[in-house]
Amino acid sequence: SYGPALEANSEALDWLARHDHSFGHFIDGSFTAPEALFDSRNPATGKVLAQVSQGSTASIDAAVAAARRAQPKWARLSGHKRAQYLYALARLVQKHARLLAVLETMDNGKPIRESRDIDLPLVARHFYYHAGLAQLAPAELPGMEPLGVCGAVIPWNFPLLMLAWKVAPALAAGNTVVLKPAEYTPLTALLFADLSREAGLPRGVLNIVTGDGDTGAALVAHPGVDKIAFTGSTAVGKAIRRATAGTGKALTLELGGKSPYIVFDDADLDSAVEGLVDAIWFNGGQVCCAGSRLLVQEGVADRFHTKLKRRMDGLRIGDPLDKCIDVGAVVDPVQLATITRLVDASEGDKYTADTPVPEGCFYPPTLITGLSAASPLMQEEIFGPVLVSMTFRTPAEAVELANNTRYGLAATVWTENVNLALDIAPKLRAGVVWVNGTNMFDAAAGFGGVRESGFGREGGWEGLHAYLRPKGKTNPLKAVAA
Ligand code: NAD
Repeated sequence: SYGPALEANSEALDWLARHDHSFGHFIDGSFTAPEALFDSRNPATGKVLAQVSQGSTASIDAAVAAARRAQPKWARLSGHKRAQYLYALARLVQKHARLLAVLETMDNGKPIRESRDIDLPLVARHFYYHAGLAQLAPAELPGMEPLGVCGAVIPWNFPLLMLAWKVAPALAAGNTVVLKPAEYTPLTALLFADLSREAGLPRGVLNIVTGDGDTGAALVAHPGVDKIAFTGSTAVGKAIRRATAGTGKALTLELGGKSPYIVFDDADLDSAVEGLVDAIWFNGGQVCCAGSRLLVQEGVADRFHTKLKRRMDGLRIGDPLDKCIDVGAVVDPVQLATITRLVDASEGDKYTADTPVPEGCFYPPTLITGLSAASPLMQEEIFGPVLVSMTFRTPAEAVELANNTRYGLAATVWTENVNLALDIAPKLRAGVVWVNGTNMFDAAAGFGGVRESGFGREGGWEGLHAYLRPKGKTNPLKAVAA
């Protein structure tokens, strides 16, 4: 251990004990009796934290029915009134930030420094921001109406943040929600359900049904759902697109990525190394927009790799509740096995960080060089603390390599030459391009992908638009003619 592990998990353990370590679904404002329980484990220790329910189609039916009943009244509230609820949720997230952060870290394995300093502030900000939009929307977007009942299916890498990305805009726009958290990380969503009661959110406005992909598929297929907002893998996103085709359901898909991190020879290399640590080792690389593909200009490649390896050796991997830890646990042994299999099968030259790695569900920071552009590791998401690296000679070659995957979520460009950055950025096929920085998120900036990274944006006005539809009341052409 590198430092004193956070004692405060007792507050999280108290909360779990209050629920007898066993959860039903949150439907119509209260928890149901548990059904078909499965374990939710702390990946860092392997210990069972609680048991949660595998949602059946009957549970999805009940949740959708509750959301349907609640929706007209919720939609009729003024924007100001809906904003009051969203502000209350934001304040409760802040009030219980420590408990939420600790529970998130215990359930997911991410370093407490990240859940405390990044996830939780972003969650609160998302609710505050959308409280503002709820107030402004009626005047700014006249003639728009909510979609109705929104189904949200989210992944395990940012459990609470992904909840916020779905729930805040949906509620702000006057929709009600049925949320299906990821099976590895359901606990903070259930804690959030408790907070929604504390906020006085009317029953049925937010419903949470836990379970695996079958529960998600039942939600997607439900005829009473008007929109599906999905974040997760490209493979499941494709299945959901097929399942919703022709049903009239609205759909947004936030999917995988293999985002390029481009370092030009004039870059501030030390800063670029620090940025890269954030890009690929933030949340152990389990990030959709992780800068997982380093493209470094030939002239500085050796120097850059040397600096990078030295920095990798300094990364501290271990107990995620330890405040000094840089890289926590991998979310689940299944995911660990996937990372191990992909790396072991690769023909590249592997460098493993020279840092102690605890037993259990941990994987060391790894750099792989000497791969061809077409090799599977250059093309496919690993979703772990593994960086692949290639060199390029010219800016044109950098663009060509950067665009040479089926994804297009994010890209990073590192250079001191602003003209070069401005030339390159528009040529990169990605939903966002960061220059001399990385992982810059804000509730006001729409986030999303192109190509097989999905479509639709979350955050900002464009994110709110995805939860509204225009309702024509007059024919504007006739109005002009008259
Ligand atoms: P996943 O696709 O396996 O699961 C995501 C969610 O979908 C889970 O809740 C799961 O239970 C559910 N699900 C699985 N099969 C389903 C089906 N047939 N129908 C409906 N729901 C189903 O993804 P994951 O492993 O949890 O998350 C990792 C993936 O998420 C990565 O590919 C990552 O890039 C992506 N991701 C994308 C973003 C983004 O904003 N673009 C953000 C975070 C994660």
